[in-house]
Amino acid sequence: MCGIIGYIGKQKASKILINALKNLEYRGYDSAGIAVREATDIKSVKKTGRVANVEAEVHQANLKGGVGIGHTRWATHGGVTEANTHPHISSDGKFVLVHNGVIENYQSLRKYLEEKGFDFKSETDTEAIVNLIAYHYRKEPDNTEDRFTSAVRKALIHLEGTYGIAVLCVDCPNEMVGARNGSPLILGLGKDENFLASDVSAFASRSKDVVYLNEGDIVHLHSDKYDITTIDSRNVSAIVESLDWDIEESELGNYTHFMEKEIFEQPQALENSMRGRFSDDNSTAKLGGIDLSPRELRSVDRFVMFGCGTTWHACLAAEYLIERFARIPVEVEYASEFRYRNAPISDDSLIFAFSQSGETIDTLAAMRESNRKGFRTLAITNVVGSSIARQTNGGGIYQHVGPEIGVASTKAFTSQVLLSSMIALYMGRLRDMSLGDGTNYVDALKSCPEMVDRILKQADSIREIAVRYSKFNDFLFMGRQAMFPIALEGALKLKEISYIHAEGYPAAEMKHGPIALISEDCPSVFLATSGRIMKKTLANMQEVKARNGKVISIVPEGTEVPKECADDVIFIPRCHEAIHPILATIPLQLLSYYIAVERGCDVDKPRNLAKSVTVE
Ligand code: GLU
Repeated sequence: MCGIIGYIGKQKASKILINALKNLEYRGYDSAGIAVREATDIKSVKKTGRVANVEAEVHQANLKGGVGIGHTRWATHGGVTEANTHPHISSDGKFVLVHNGVIENYQSLRKYLEEKGFDFKSETDTEAIVNLIAYHYRKEPDNTEDRFTSAVRKALIHLEGTYGIAVLCVDCPNEMVGARNGSPLILGLGKDENFLASDVSAFASRSKDVVYLNEGDIVHLHSDKYDITTIDSRNVSAIVESLDWDIEESELGNYTHFMEKEIFEQPQALENSMRGRFSDDNSTAKLGGIDLSPRELRSVDRFVMFGCGTTWHACLAAEYLIERFARIPVEVEYASEFRYRNAPISDDSLIFAFSQSGETIDTLAAMRESNRKGFRTLAITNVVGSSIARQTNGGGIYQHVGPEIGVASTKAFTSQVLLSSMIALYMGRLRDMSLGDGTNYVDALKSCPEMVDRILKQADSIREIAVRYSKFNDFLFMGRQAMFPIALEGALKLKEISYIHAEGYPAAEMKHGPIALISEDCPSVFLATSGRIMKKTLANMQEVKARNGKVISIVPEGTEVPKECADDVIFIPRCHEAIHPILATIPLQLLSYYIAVERGCDVDKPRNLAKSVTVE
């Protein structure tokens, strides 16, 4: 959450900052602002609302300087007002700063600084940082070699909480300081220009050489050089990595929304997730990123999988797949709960963190806690070089689905389920899954992109259904077994982007409560794709219909769905159970997308949400 950008170079910073903020906007869109070094001064422009609002003002301000910082905010402390919008300026006017994170002890810092004569103009926690830097700068002797960095360092020592910051100092026209602790910050290296940003999308069009800063790093930047030290003044030798980034992947192209684009990209995204990941004889998966030997993996007695939001649903789908096909128990946890609850876990458990961005703060903290206790940790993430990817001790699996920009996750979810299915296959084959079963499983996985494509070809008829149901304000989503996590995901998708109240349940649980909600005003979406229990789910649908509830059912092609069971039927291809959850997800994504569009919702930037949850 929150996107920060810093630019130092010879170009017009304002233009570069605004373009960067547009790419970072999915991380927060309450308000936005930039500050640019102009002659002897630093000028800032801030606006509530979208980056486009700031862009118009920046144009008028005609800022010419080549050094600046920018921010797109997801408010944590203080309302969405211009005063709370970043960048924030110290009360002596010496420093300007942007911040991603939360400072937990800001109230005591603020009180202390107010006593020392600093004025506060906002309600944010962030303003305490910039004033604390100004306070230490004032105390620093004039002849300190790098007085700017030194003041930042001394301020950071007193902060409790998380931050990714970029700071400018009026006295140092061609310098910038950045630092991180708990929030992401990446250094981009260009020719006579350097960048700092929350993620690489901010500068990928200008720089492909990056340094992923570590927790506690402070970077002092010029346009042609930089040096990194730790908060306790040790020198850090930077590892420069080359970015593999196709700029077109982060552009909208002919689509109206990123969510739409990402739904339709899924056949290719799934293909990319699987590429090169099958054994030569096509009987098992090859997961090269996992640094554990087959022998070590055979000794695993339990998986503990955690994530947040949609990704937690992917963990739940993984539970069904792995328990069914590899016969290994799986424990699924909300990362935010797991990190604090000191759960008893057996020594031979394997910890698996799921996070699209690789920066989700709760998941990162849960992983660190597991590392600290000496467990073997792995991850499924989409972002190469992300904090979670770098902190596993047993490696992991990159999703390779390209940037996901729509706030509501789609292709990242199906890819996580696909990779979970590949883990089920791999672990199953290490145990007692036969060669023949393994080969069938691989065939099923390989057919998945083509089957997803077939469902996407029904988009128009799914849109018609969506339009007819778009006026309802309550929905239930139900499914049994591996369809239960998909029901949860369908409900979440609808909530996120159309603000419709929706709940997901195991279909058999209906009679234990949710059936009381059924009426002609509350439609139900049933996922009835599992062969073994299809009849039971059809009976549940009939129970809803008998109570005047409308039913949309999602069933395998060729299934006879009697009129008394469902009002609308969406067919998905008949398939192996290994890919059922993926196929069943696609119509739900389309339904929620078209309903949200029909209701006039801002699909890619839903109310109150933002992507990459980097604050607790
Ligand atoms: N805590 C800061 C604010 O509320 C930054 C928020 C964030 O990083 O999401 O302005």
